[in-house]
Amino acid sequence: TVRVKGLLLTDAQGQRQIWSMVEDITEEKRLARMQREFVATVSHELRTPLTSITGALGLVSGGVLGELPDKARDMLEIARQNSQQLALLVNDLLDMEKLLAGQMVFNLQPQALLPLVELAVRNNQGYAEQHGVKLKLSSQVDAWVRVDALRLEQVLNNLLSNAAKFSPSGAEVEISIALCEGWARVSVQDHGLGIAPEFHPRVFDKFTQADCSDTRSKGGTGLGLAITRQLLERMGGRIDFHSRVGEGSTFYFELPLSD
Ligand code: ADP
Repeated sequence: TVRVKGLLLTDAQGQRQIWSMVEDITEEKRLARMQREFVATVSHELRTPLTSITGALGLVSGGVLGELPDKARDMLEIARQNSQQLALLVNDLLDMEKLLAGQMVFNLQPQALLPLVELAVRNNQGYAEQHGVKLKLSSQVDAWVRVDALRLEQVLNNLLSNAAKFSPSGAEVEISIALCEGWARVSVQDHGLGIAPEFHPRVFDKFTQADCSDTRSKGGTGLGLAITRQLLERMGGRIDFHSRVGEGSTFYFELPLSD
């Protein structure tokens, strides 16, 4: 495999010259594939023990060993939350690797968009409430799109949970559907922290979070939006956002209308 780069130069006499460079990237591609396979294998191996840890912790906190001292209950809760966080990370890693390797299978079917959005709003309302946030679906427009319903739910879950997570308590998140020139657009508008302009170009990158301090209070893997964008693109869609610090963010995605 080769990579070809072209360069257009003008010399001191005003003569234009075209330079081209041919690089052999076979090794680079081989290493990238090996790295992806390694991450996929490790993530896969982590999943089984993690499921049994989470299950055991759930049983103990559910009372199978009888009433526990307060301190033990607190520690158990910390362990449970962290194993849940780890499980999310492992699932995201596996999804990302599958997407990059082109191995994720999409079951594309014509679907009515509104019921899928309504379902996602209902499913995320509990999580939003934990943050004191209310999700509000403001439009009743419907459209037919060709998507994998489960993957679209994943996209909506990511956007709705981000909107709730990065909003202050008492805020509302508005979800709407609009139609425009052969596309259906779903917007998720929050009135939260907003995103600093210098972070905008990296929002959809893997493992990037605006707050990367050790003391960051919001959970998450920094993979959600990278996965979301890949999923949408594989379904023929696209995603973008606008945001202002202190005012909030609107993430919107578009899918072609299906006939
Ligand atoms: P995660 O939410 O797991 O950190 P994402 O890929 O979903 O990862 O988001 C990456 C980063 O983009 C977040 O950590 C946050 O800094 C920023 N971000 C995403 N959505 C919002 C939002 N609605 N409001 C403010 N910041 C956001």
